Amino acid sequence: MATKTLEARFEHLSVKEEKETTANRGYGKQKDSLSTASSRPGLGASQSNSNRAQLLKLALQNTNDHKTNSMNIPVSPGKGSQGTLVTRNTDENGEQRTSTSGSESTIPRELHLGMFEIGKPLGKGKFGRVYLAKERSSGFVCALKVLHKSELQQGGVQKQVRREIEIQSNLRHPNVLRLYGHFHDSKRIFLILEFAGKGELYKHLRKEHRFPEWKAAQYIAQMAAALKYLHKKHVMHRDIKPENILVGIHGEIKISDFGWSVHAPNNRRQTMCGTLDYLPPEMLKPGSQDNYYSEKVDLWSLGVLAYEFLVGEAPFEDTPVMTQRRIARADMSVPSFVSPEGRDLIKRLLVLDPEKRIPLDEIQRHPWIIKHCVKEPKRSSASSKEGKA
Ligand code: ATP
Ligand code: MG
Repeated sequence: MATKTLEARFEHLSVKEEKETTANRGYGKQKDSLSTASSRPGLGASQSNSNRAQLLKLALQNTNDHKTNSMNIPVSPGKGSQGTLVTRNTDENGEQRTSTSGSESTIPRELHLGMFEIGKPLGKGKFGRVYLAKERSSGFVCALKVLHKSELQQGGVQKQVRREIEIQSNLRHPNVLRLYGHFHDSKRIFLILEFAGKGELYKHLRKEHRFPEWKAAQYIAQMAAALKYLHKKHVMHRDIKPENILVGIHGEIKISDFGWSVHAPNNRRQTMCGTLDYLPPEMLKPGSQDNYYSEKVDLWSLGVLAYEFLVGEAPFEDTPVMTQRRIARADMSVPSFVSPEGRDLIKRLLVLDPEKRIPLDEIQRHPWIIKHCVKEPKRSSASSKEGKA
């Protein structure tokens, strides 16, 4: 609910072209701590900060109802950073206006590290660290992801990150992690992300081994809602898996990690890395990188996800060679402890022919979803402990 208010009121933040960064873009050595952030003074334009603060305040009032404290590491302002804040309107359904800056009043504002108090580290990814952070003037709590340009360059993922930023900053949905804005200094890129208070879904799943059916169904329903929204905007995620899903303070799902996502249709040229478990068959075929494939890839991954939620492991988990072989044949079996309805949905998603997979609309009306999601609304906010089915 808070998220909705947030969606309705928060201004979109977006960055100026990176080229505008002045001197010394040389991708230097990385730093692990934000507390060293005040280096390289004198970069970036100086514009009035007061309006920005006002905007943030307006946007964030009443929206940040989760109490998060541990903002106790003061950070001196990093003057070397710059970014832009652009106002933009959205409607409640997340059907935001997509014009990228043109017609609406665009007020460029500088964003920089000094605006934030940095709190505890939330986690570490391949290319950066994420910290709890609080915007000083508004008290708005968020997650600040710090990416080192040198590492992005070494990893050859600058383009991927750019795409992630472009796509994610245009998305507004309660089950999609918001990217409020970004800015950078000479060495780092900072992403201002929605804070997901309950962390990684992956960890919850490992801890519980598998989810009770009601919880799995509620998660899948939220995933379906998020994917419906994304697909309507012609965005396919293409990397759906528990590691890329965060959990909000109310137990709601937040899809994150849009590094592999694209505006359809497109080709995935880069080498795929990481787990094969979630890869759909049409992306495995030789030459598939040059083939068109549709957002139906996300439906397959949703089937894998549903399976993993209910069973505790992915359906094609095996040696890499065998996993690929089994995916290519949709060779899996659902254990008998899974309810017939749950099994039915999995089987309708894990269909080799992308066109024959159950569409998102139908998922939302599927008996398994109806059974667990329509009544007993109180469960939707209780993601933990009690209520074992
Ligand atoms: P990758 O580099 O492949 O994206 P990753 O997803 O683990 O790996 P990050 O997205 O950088 O890396 O996030 C690192 C960790 O920080 C996450 O696994 C999660 O635990 C935590 N984290 C990231 N973003 C948030 C957020 N918005 N709210 C709460 N915790 C977060
Ligand atoms: Mg990630």
